[in-house]
Amino acid sequence: MKLTIWGAAEQVTGSMHLLEVDNYRILVDCGLNYEGGIELSANENFPFSPADIDLVVLTHAHIDHSGNIPTLIKNGFMGQVLCTYPTADLVQLLLSDSVNIFMRKQQEKKRSRGKFKKNRFINHNQPLYLQKHVNDTAERTVAIAFNKPFKINKDITLRLVATGHLLGAAAAHFTLNDQGTEKTIAFTGDIGRKNYPVLNDAEYLPETNYLVCESTYGGRFHTTTDTLQNTLIKVITEACIDQPGRLIIPAFSVGRTQSLVFSLNNIFSTGLLPPIPVFVDSPMATTATEVYRKHHKYVSNEAKSFYKQHGNEYEFENLNYVKELKESKEISNHFEPCIIISSAGMLEGGRIQDHLFRNIENFYATLLFIGFCAKGTLGHKLLRGDSFVNIKGKELSVMATIKKTDLLSGHGDHSDIMEYVTKIPNRSLKRVFLVHGEPESMEALKVNMELNKLEVTIPQKGVCFEL
Ligand SMILES: [Zn+2]
Repeated sequence: MKLTIWGAAEQVTGSMHLLEVDNYRILVDCGLNYEGGIELSANENFPFSPADIDLVVLTHAHIDHSGNIPTLIKNGFMGQVLCTYPTADLVQLLLSDSVNIFMRKQQEKKRSRGKFKKNRFINHNQPLYLQKHVNDTAERTVAIAFNKPFKINKDITLRLVATGHLLGAAAAHFTLNDQGTEKTIAFTGDIGRKNYPVLNDAEYLPETNYLVCESTYGGRFHTTTDTLQNTLIKVITEACIDQPGRLIIPAFSVGRTQSLVFSLNNIFSTGLLPPIPVFVDSPMATTATEVYRKHHKYVSNEAKSFYKQHGNEYEFENLNYVKELKESKEISNHFEPCIIISSAGMLEGGRIQDHLFRNIENFYATLLFIGFCAKGTLGHKLLRGDSFVNIKGKELSVMATIKKTDLLSGHGDHSDIMEYVTKIPNRSLKRVFLVHGEPESMEALKVNMELNKLEVTIPQKGVCFEL
């Protein structure tokens, strides 16, 4: 068998790995590459002919793993896309959102009348793909169960093993008959962290000879000094009870918002805090929450027992899902203390920009970051402590209090990844390929894994390994 890492090689985004067994070609993930400075061509063209790919296996719905499947189809791929049931639903939401982002960027480009020559996703005023390509992706998507062996052909069997990173997220584990020899190879996708609200912990892999492993948090360790619940109570108390203020939480609509709402539900339904109004102001978060409800059987045991005791995990009396833009604007007229959860998580676009515009110069406002913000984004500027920021074309001074926590990060840290890898049974693991991380994160994991007597490779993009 042959393995070629075509994406997320020595970087985080654009996961795309090619597995070839006897001329059968499987692409594991086909994500958007959005590392800074890389041109559109990184997504528009493929280093192989899409028509030659027989099958796509998708580990989870996040756009850096799924976001370029419509381009693959647009360019001639004629096979199916295999993933779990929740991923099949969530990926449609995220891909349609990508089309909206492409369209918005295109409009901005038109408005700027050519002032900006380069745009990461738009070329010749054409978006990377259209909604019809997302619909084509839906028609080619086939959902399969977690942990049930699925026979792809007479030589290849696939098993999707939950990784707890996002609802539906799974590692792709293949058992192959490679010219008479049985071999196993697995692709982790993204590995979740333990005790994450709404999700079960990652399940360990069965015997695996070769592992393509993510390394996002290599060399880094999550905060362990306090629990998420205590942290939220402390922040809400300081922002909304000790003073008559507003707490604004930028959050990704899919995954992070549902976990945050469930955590707040735990706090309010048990009376740990008075019922401060909470607004979830993101139409996409509302739709994603419906997908979470639909796939209730896949949520954590903690969420299931909460459901039995208190009812819906994503509903409580002081919670409002804001639908219309008019309602969103009215939140600003709400003068009592409140909590506003809105997207986008890095503050680049979305309704969160309106809330910031109206609140960033307000001494009584607090902004709580719960996720990563890439360089160059408004979120990054606020986190590094800029005193002035430009929002919607206006220079505003930062008067609001800025806070952050990593307790809602969806990735396991260095020790979680090490545990995941070292739990692979019976010393079956021969070699690990590290992907999906910054070079220093990969290096930290490589050193640690080698101490555990594992052979570790940090593959360069496009190098083919005969295994
Ligand atoms: Zn992910």
